[in-house]
Amino acid sequence: MNQPSDRHPVAVPDLLSRDQRAVWHPFTPLADSHKAVPLTGAAGCYLHTADGRQILDCIGSWWVNLHGHSHPHIAEAIYRQARQLEHVIFAGFTHEPAVRLAERLLEILPANQSKIFYSDNGSTAVEVGLKMAFQYWHNQGIHKPKIVALDGAYHGDTFGAMSVGERGPFTAAFHAHLFEVAFLPFPDGASGHSVIQSFNTLARSGEVAAFVYEPLVQGAAGMRAYPAEVLEELLQIAKAHGILCIADEVMTGFGRTGKLFASAHCVTQPDIMCLSKGLTGGALPLGVTSCTAEVIAAYRANDLMKTFFHGHSFTANPLACAAANASLDLLLTPECEGNRQRIARRHAAFAEAVAAHPAVLAVRSLGVVLALEIRTSAATSYFNEVRNSLYDYFLGRDLLIRPLGNVIYLLPPYVITDAELDRVYAEIETLLDQMIA
Ligand SMILES: *Cc1c(COP(=O)(O)O)cnc(C)c1O
Repeated sequence: MNQPSDRHPVAVPDLLSRDQRAVWHPFTPLADSHKAVPLTGAAGCYLHTADGRQILDCIGSWWVNLHGHSHPHIAEAIYRQARQLEHVIFAGFTHEPAVRLAERLLEILPANQSKIFYSDNGSTAVEVGLKMAFQYWHNQGIHKPKIVALDGAYHGDTFGAMSVGERGPFTAAFHAHLFEVAFLPFPDGASGHSVIQSFNTLARSGEVAAFVYEPLVQGAAGMRAYPAEVLEELLQIAKAHGILCIADEVMTGFGRTGKLFASAHCVTQPDIMCLSKGLTGGALPLGVTSCTAEVIAAYRANDLMKTFFHGHSFTANPLACAAANASLDLLLTPECEGNRQRIARRHAAFAEAVAAHPAVLAVRSLGVVLALEIRTSAATSYFNEVRNSLYDYFLGRDLLIRPLGNVIYLLPPYVITDAELDRVYAEIETLLDQMIA
């Protein structure tokens, strides 16, 4: 007789009740913990549920997955690395996966980037970027206390990252503990000119250490886009006043916006860049903060106190670096590039087709990102009923789509097929028709 083993599908009620007793989920009200869907595995674009459903992952599992789930090339790379060197302290030691990944990233990042600093996730990549910028001035004995960011920004959930992000319901409990930041209005078409004037005024104060921004698209704000021309102007103002530019490409990196990095849509390039999410293809957590030779120069001294005293236990974890190298192998193939262009074309055509639909307030697509703002009577916020009912509606149809307020967006793995896209578009159109019926 077979003994029960972990290779057998877990009984759903059992896993869920154990989960409810022992686990606390992110961004989830405790009252909703019974809604967690037990999974037994995932492959390609599909999540396999314990009760036999296959859910199409239309959001790359919170913007991290590039090549589909459980990809054999990435899985093999992690396995091989685990048999050779699973982890080692990265102060005083180094290894091939970390060096190779740094070299390869520097090949595809904007040409002015010259060094790679590793951390664990998107928030830490931003924390490192902010600290790197503050200490750049500190090491030179120059006092620059201010940071400038954009309204609606999201840079992560740790304190520094929260400080440079939009003050909203998610951060309300911590406002007293966040450092002060000057926020510019979101620079879309309407406010473009006044944003540039405000930034000029701030820049002339000489007190601004850094400008931190999500290039071209603010993810968490609802896949909200702004023109490359406006960003270009902001970057030029920053450069003219010696303000360090920190591009948070945690979401936009690795091909999301039609170029490998959204910064490539501009001529002027950032001084510091933050990467995570797609970095390992979505397989393991890893963060990267890159910077220019000029930033590094402020740390080169015979003065110990000019050292960058920052590091995490798992800095440059070899397994994560191996996964990232394997993900880059896939990302840089003509096939993957072709897939990204195909998805971008399909998104653009769908956006055009539904733009005039009476239930659609606005629609936009940029690269593999598609966002649809739904017309609702309720005030639009992350918390409104519409968001929850949309999420449930799609999940009931075996689609993982997780709206941001009244914004339905798609950010699929690059291996999603045309037939799968057709299915998703059709379900969205059905929903739109139902909303006006
Ligand atoms: C998700 C995100 C972060 C935070 O990354 P985590 O890995 O979740 O800490 C930071 N910046 C942007 C633009 C993001 O989209």
